This record gives sequence, structure tokens and C-alpha cells, in this order.
Amino acid sequence: MDSKASYHVHTVFCDGKNSPEEMVLAAIDAGMSAIALTAHAAWPFATEWHLAPARYGDYLAEARRVKAAYSGRIEVWCGFEADYIAGLTAPDPSTYGRFDPEFLVGSVHYVTEGSRDVAGPPWSIDAPTAEVAEGIERCYGGNAKRAVGAYWATVREMVSSCAFDVLGHLDVLRKRNGELSFFDEESGWYKGELRETVRAIARSGIVVEINTGGIARKALDDVYPSAYLLGLLARAGVPVTVSSDAHAVGDIDCAYDRAYRAAREAGYGSLSFFTGNGWRQEAL
Ligand SMILES: [Zn+2]
Ligand SMILES: [Zn+2]
Repeated sequence: MDSKASYHVHTVFCDGKNSPEEMVLAAIDAGMSAIALTAHAAWPFATEWHLAPARYGDYLAEARRVKAAYSGRIEVWCGFEADYIAGLTAPDPSTYGRFDPEFLVGSVHYVTEGSRDVAGPPWSIDAPTAEVAEGIERCYGGNAKRAVGAYWATVREMVSSCAFDVLGHLDVLRKRNGELSFFDEESGWYKGELRETVRAIARSGIVVEINTGGIARKALDDVYPSAYLLGLLARAGVPVTVSSDAHAVGDIDCAYDRAYRAAREAGYGSLSFFTGNGWRQEAL
């Protein structure tokens, strides 16, 4: 495989440590042919780790400047990692069209479906361990199976109702399961949720990323999605790409060897690379 890319990269405009230019230079150093700058976005809302609504213009101007400055050396796509929160914000042109993004990662970080605390903050699944546990208690009465089912229902709702390019860190709720053991990945009901979700993804035509960010942040010694889920995706013919979800220059291609191996072991013979107008496949 000649090409190497990460279509999921953060910068100082959200919760990253480095500037867009530093991330582009790191990608060139790592031998990448393309990256997508994908600031955390929940337009028109924001938390402390999202791009602030007042800074969308500055972010896009700098991303586009860097894209032009390095155009002969690397492809840079300017976009967002857009949150899906039912009824509030979505990774879809109806929300982001005004910013004319070239690339959208669709991610679920918050789950509101079936929450019994509709007035409080939603369950945050990518949060520190104590916060993930607190959300299961407060929003789902301690019923982790209901909480996990609500996450997968939210992912299905997002892929069925929104138009975006890549599905971000698909089973990120595994991130805190090592410490919390709040669900059993081997249980029949969990595998049923995965099968139902894979069917929805296959219908959507959206590309799934193999994301190494949990390894970079030492939260999980594995890529997302799990080997089992990747196998289901491969059998359903869902295309995959490899992304680092890097928040710092040192993580731009963290654990790519493991991601490629995971893809091969799941049965993939090729990876997807963005063309600006769809995707091309390149043999693994
Ligand atoms: Zn994310
Ligand atoms: Zn991210």
C-alpha cells in the first residue's frame, strides 16, 4: 500500500495540542499523502473541547490557508468531527452546509435516547471513567444494558438520518469498559446490537474508520472497532479507512501497524482513501 492518511485530526482550535500547520507537517514527516482537519463541532453549541461558535471562521480560514500552502506535498481536507445529539445537532449538510466543509466525521459522544434525566447533561460516553459511571446511574438508573442499547440506537439513528463521510470511533464505549466492566462484549444481546448497527451502516454507504486514538491516549490497548465488529463490517461489505484521531503531532500515525493488521485479520483486502468526490480503494 503506497498511501497513508488520517481523516480525523484535531488542533488547538478544539482540544488538540498543536496548530493545523504543525499537524500537517507531522503528517508529511510520517509519509502521509492526505489528512482531514476535523475540529470537534456541535454547531451551534460547544463544550470546552469543541470549536467555539465564534471561531468557526478563523478555523476554516487557517485550515484552508494550510491546505493551499502545502498543496503540492499533501492533500488537506478541511472539515469537522461533528457530534450527533438527537434534535440538537447533527453531522449533516443541514447543520454544516453554511460552512462548506470538505469532510465530515460523524461521532456520538453523548447519548440522550431513553434517558430518565432529560433536564440534566446527557450521558457522556467518551468522558473520564467516573463521569461515564455517573451518567449510567443518573440517566439510566444504573441499568448499563439500557444505556449501552441507547448508544447503539443513537448510532443507528445517526447513520440513517445524516449525510457524512466517516463514522468516528464506532465502539468508543469500550474505552471505559476495561475499568468499569459495565457490559460484556461477548453477550448475545450486545452482539445483537452490533449486528443490527452493521446492517444500518451497510445501508447508509458511510465509510467506517479504524481509529487508533484509544491507544495513543492509553485508554484502551486496541483499535476501535473491536475485532468482532470489524469482522461483521467486512462481511457486510462496509469500507474502512484508518485514522489516528490525533490530538498532538506525536500521535499522527500512532499504532498504524496494528490498525492495518486488524483490517487484514477481519478480512479486508483494501482500505479507502478520500478523493474529494467519493472514495477510492487501495490494496492493503
Ligand atoms: Zn470523537
Ligand atoms: Zn476525534
